[in-house]
Amino acid sequence: MFAVLKNLGWFFKQEKKRYLVGLFLLIICGVIELLPPLLLGNAIDDIVTSTITWASLTRYLLLILGIVAVVYAATYVWMHRLFGGANLVERLLRTRYMNHLLGMLPPFFERNRTGDLMAKATNDLRSVAATAGFGMLVLTDSSVFLFTVLFAMGFLVSWKLTLAAILPMPIIAIGMVIYGRAIHKRYTLAQDAFGVMNDQVLESVAGVRVVRAYVQERADQKRFQDITDDVYRKNLAVAKVDALFEPTINFSIGLSYVIGLSYGVYLVFQNEITLGNLVAFNMYLGMMIWPMFAIGELINIMQRGGASLDRVNETLKTPPDVTDPEQPETPAVPNSIVFSNVTFRYPSSSADNLKDISFTLNKGQTLGVVGRTGSGKSTLLKQLLHEYPTGSGEIRFDGVPIEQLTLDHLYSWIGYVPQEQILFSKTVRENIQFGKKDASDALIMEAIATAAFDQDLSTLSDGLDTLVGEKGVALSGGQKQRVSLARAFISDPEILILDDALSAVDARTEARIIDNIRTKRAGKTTLISTHRLSAVQHADWIIVLEEGRIVEQGRHEELLAMNGWYREQYDRQQLENKLTSEEVS
Ligand code: ATP
Ligand code: MG
Repeated sequence: MFAVLKNLGWFFKQEKKRYLVGLFLLIICGVIELLPPLLLGNAIDDIVTSTITWASLTRYLLLILGIVAVVYAATYVWMHRLFGGANLVERLLRTRYMNHLLGMLPPFFERNRTGDLMAKATNDLRSVAATAGFGMLVLTDSSVFLFTVLFAMGFLVSWKLTLAAILPMPIIAIGMVIYGRAIHKRYTLAQDAFGVMNDQVLESVAGVRVVRAYVQERADQKRFQDITDDVYRKNLAVAKVDALFEPTINFSIGLSYVIGLSYGVYLVFQNEITLGNLVAFNMYLGMMIWPMFAIGELINIMQRGGASLDRVNETLKTPPDVTDPEQPETPAVPNSIVFSNVTFRYPSSSADNLKDISFTLNKGQTLGVVGRTGSGKSTLLKQLLHEYPTGSGEIRFDGVPIEQLTLDHLYSWIGYVPQEQILFSKTVRENIQFGKKDASDALIMEAIATAAFDQDLSTLSDGLDTLVGEKGVALSGGQKQRVSLARAFISDPEILILDDALSAVDARTEARIIDNIRTKRAGKTTLISTHRLSAVQHADWIIVLEEGRIVEQGRHEELLAMNGWYREQYDRQQLENKLTSEEVS
């Protein structure tokens, strides 16, 4: 049950002072609070024996007032310490969690749902944090404070009476163990369901345009309702157990009162204790109510925190799918890229997605990758990013196998424009600066010109400061592509990978960009995949893929001479171009 506290041991160690001060004051408060009932009991006995005076009464009152003042100040400090600790651990864990996510590669995100990952970062971490704040409070109250009250009852009043009054306590103990287990199980299910719901919200909101366009609102609502129903039912199951804590504790405390009062009166009549003792005893019994509840709260909070921490740790424990080598090699520039007999399969795929791919690309050369949709172009280019564990065969940069390079070193060479552009909801400038931190406006404008985005820029309302909206919704498809291109150009990478990055621009703009690339990237390596053959005509080597295999390769003219897929495709695209330009004129 306290596994969660053990797991947070590093934090308690780090924040030792905070917790020592907090818990010490908390205990002091508990002890001091035992005094007023004692004083009251004494005062009553003084009244009964008619020995009370103004002076002694004033003394009692002043003492009680003093105690109240001390408790006030101490309570403020311990609350501040303990609950501050909860906020701190939440922040630390969240940062750690986020850093972990940022170190993960695509396969991880294919296995884990975004909504669930978010639920862990918010909901679950909050409930873990609760164990370090409220959890510590109830832990102290249900142990130290409970025993202090018990000792006060025993030493100051009567052990006989005390032991009799706590006879019902095992009921609580047994109840708590049973409920605790149930809470852990049910709470895990509820949090999982919450993760699923989160994911659904995310997908529905992100896909709202498509949902509307296909008039699927009803179906989407229904689906969502089913999921919220599930979350509701699972949380209700938690609440059902939750609701058992209080009556069980109340029942047991009720029994204690019955025993305390009847046996206490008997003892007064036997002259074993005074009337004042009995009054004080009953006040102490009252003071035991909270620590008893605290036991329930403790179990509840620790089980929830434990269930949540398990969920979070499950993610934290996952290593990245590709780990850096222990003794990496660090060639300065990739003078060559060599694929030899590379065969690769996605983890979720049942057939090879790349088969026996071999080619050599020297520094300064351009590789074109073409082929039907789904033939493996993106898969081939992504091999250079080492996002997935490598398949068989070898990929070497400058003679060094890709496995011997750290990802950071590898990525320092690469500029990558993926097939689906990803823009951030910031300004155009910030999106481009992503490629090179603090790049000057002059540099940005140069990259924009290379990407043929300069004319569009003047039509944007705020120029470089135009906000592109979430995921770039405020830009057209072609504009988004060219902002992504500018982002890759600005870092002037050793290796530039353009995955179908010109698909959304018209033929003339494409020609302009290709021209710019040829001049700007002279001496650097470029890989381009495309459906429009005009974009790779100038390449030093062109690969035609079909179902993950190279079926044709060579330079443009050589491929035309082969009269294969490339030739056929080229002729068709030429014809199309001619037709469209005739239509225009
Ligand atoms: P397009 O021209 O449409 O971009 P492509 O040539 O780039 O197509 P790839 O994206 O490389 O094609 O896909 C090649 C094959 O790999 C396809 O059959 C696809 O279903 C499969 N595939 C792609 N990505 C994954 C993935 N993450 N997990 C499993 N299979 C995948
Ligand atoms: Mg592709």
